[in-house]
Amino acid sequence: MEGAFQLEELDGAIALLTFDVPGQKVNTFSRAVRQEIEEIVAQLETRTNLNGLLFTSGKPGQFIAGADLNELGALIDAPRETVTEELAVGHALFDRVSRLPFPTVALIDGPCMGGGTELVLSMDCRLVSDNCKTKIALPEVKVGLIPGWGGTQRMPRLIGINAAIDMICGGAPISATRAVELGFAFDAVPADLLIDEGRRLIGIVREDDQWQADRQTRNQPLGLSEDQANFAFAVAEGHVAGKTKGQYPAPLAALRAMREGVNLPLAEGLAVERKIAMEVTGTPISAGLISVFFMTTALARDRGVDNPDVQARSVSRVGVLGAGLMGAGIATAHARSGVATCMVDVDNDRIGAGLASAEKVVGGRIKVGRATPQDMASMLACMNTSTSHAPFADCDVVIEAITENEEWKTAAYKQMTPHLRDDAILASNTSTISITRMAEAAPHPERFAGMHFFYPVDRMQLVEVIRGEKTDDETVVTLVELARRIRKTPIVMKDCPGFLVNRILLPYMNEALLMLIEGASMDAIDKASLKFGFPMGPIALHDLVGLDTACYAGQVMVNAFKDRAVQAPLLAELVEAGRMGKKSGAGFRQFVGRKSRPQADPAFDTFLAKHRTDEREFTSEEITDRLLLPMLLEATRILEEEIVREPGHVDMGLILGIGFPPFRGGLLHWCDSEGAGVLADKLAKYSSLGKRFEPTDSFTQMVKNDGKFFPRG
Ligand code: NAD
Repeated sequence: MEGAFQLEELDGAIALLTFDVPGQKVNTFSRAVRQEIEEIVAQLETRTNLNGLLFTSGKPGQFIAGADLNELGALIDAPRETVTEELAVGHALFDRVSRLPFPTVALIDGPCMGGGTELVLSMDCRLVSDNCKTKIALPEVKVGLIPGWGGTQRMPRLIGINAAIDMICGGAPISATRAVELGFAFDAVPADLLIDEGRRLIGIVREDDQWQADRQTRNQPLGLSEDQANFAFAVAEGHVAGKTKGQYPAPLAALRAMREGVNLPLAEGLAVERKIAMEVTGTPISAGLISVFFMTTALARDRGVDNPDVQARSVSRVGVLGAGLMGAGIATAHARSGVATCMVDVDNDRIGAGLASAEKVVGGRIKVGRATPQDMASMLACMNTSTSHAPFADCDVVIEAITENEEWKTAAYKQMTPHLRDDAILASNTSTISITRMAEAAPHPERFAGMHFFYPVDRMQLVEVIRGEKTDDETVVTLVELARRIRKTPIVMKDCPGFLVNRILLPYMNEALLMLIEGASMDAIDKASLKFGFPMGPIALHDLVGLDTACYAGQVMVNAFKDRAVQAPLLAELVEAGRMGKKSGAGFRQFVGRKSRPQADPAFDTFLAKHRTDEREFTSEEITDRLLLPMLLEATRILEEEIVREPGHVDMGLILGIGFPPFRGGLLHWCDSEGAGVLADKLAKYSSLGKRFEPTDSFTQMVKNDGKFFPRG
């Protein structure tokens, strides 16, 4: 096989080492690549006649994407000695690079990530291209790891402790300009001048043997005073702990590696890093986050149909019917992304409210520095409004987001038909109504689909694209592309009650109420869910989405899945009494005071008392099992019915749609890591609760075969 490195000699006894993994779009630092570079380093160690080394990528605008995540993900099944060796091998290699007998300069053009950044940190100098694609990052914490090949020790010694903490604990990239400001890179120059400037830099650092003096300095302790260290780390630890809530150990581990290592000589600091890296490498949390990374990448490429020849239609104008909570959000998302949009509602008051909420979204972003007044002007320039359907005549796609009432919706389709272009696509944002059924009222059922956004639209990334029985591929691909254009993540699915996310969420919501009736306290239920990693407990979620909405959606599930879906009558009773949750001031809890913080409400106890069947305490484990197992079984039914095409779509749908904890990799990854057999035993314990705890055929089969949703390898 052709190698990934090419070594040549330029005039002036300067070596040029070019990294270019054959047949790949990006350079990754895989095991094979590391072995190859080890041999080259061994050759270079003997070349005392060289004046310097330039290191570059053979892929213009693509430097190094980092370590091979497939290999890192596989470490979960590896013995601990293998993990130790992986870390030690990287350290030994970069240590040898840092000791080459001549100055070394990395020429960085394009993204330089993770292991790539750690490699260039072991060199004497770095030059970056002024290409806007050039970004430097140590993003390891995002996949549950720490920069474990020297990053936690070499980065602070180069750019100072505070900047290093930001880069390592946040994982965000810095630009070429910032890299120069921080002293990471000597200079930013046009990409085609990198080699010439690199040669010049070698000349500069060879004067007075500056490169050797710099090596000496970087091998020393950083020399932070006790006060400096205490302040930097205490602030960072508080910030990280607040953000990660004890569920993402990597950023705190990285901080500890820096705190314990930077004031030691480099070699000792690196030993500290290796020890701490062991704690997070190959763990289930890291494996879960690596899976999410791969699923995200796969989803970003998924066109939603199997036929590769189907092309998306071009969309230059979008109509949105309804300017309420969702309609305004959907119209804003399009207008913010530069898509000409027309928002229609029944009167000017509602249009005014819709526009006000659009301005609030962009205004809020301006306040936190994420948008500019120019963005507001551009959004408003892209947004038209009307109280008539006439402007839909120019629209390629019309998204209906009116009140959740099938009769109203289908009547609206009939009314707008004379105004729609014959080839227009019509999509509904319904949460609960059958797409296949409503398609019959649309002018062209093959160009009708669901496009289900989540609330609040500006913050929720997921869009469920639902195909009815007659929806054609072109419609699906067009809606998928449109969703991506407005920076959302579309998942394509077949029509079914609740679609993907609500169908799996509702058994969880409902089980919480059933446990409440059996004696569990609402605090215990919410706490167990938070402990598992959900952003909010199911009781709090009821109060937030509205008890009326939950009750209505639950009823849809009961009607659709009579064999297993049950609804606690308590919910309808609370709705009848006007207790809708936060929006009405009280639901399960009451919302009092200026900030409407949820508090226990004695008035609720009267409702509960009538329904309580028991008074026993529930353990946290029992609560989590009861909440998650019916979700899991519903997910297996979704796969049996081929509602989605990949198990990964279930996991990503739940991560993006309801905040299922990403560190668990999603619901099906959670099942894989617990073991289907273990969960089957738990299900057996709850068999008296009925069909909703009865293993499905596919699950039983999986247990029998000792199978997994995501077999490794
Ligand atoms: P909403 O009550 O806030 O807004 C509905 C809007 O539709 C109102 O402004 C109303 O005037 C308008 N409307 C009603 N009939 C109309 C007609 N014939 N022509 C033009 N406008 C008409 O409701 P919402 O929460 O925005 O929900 C809209 C849709 O989105 C529903 O199908 C709902 O199920 C779905 N949805 C809601 C959420 C949510 O969290 N609220 C989430 C996802 C999907």
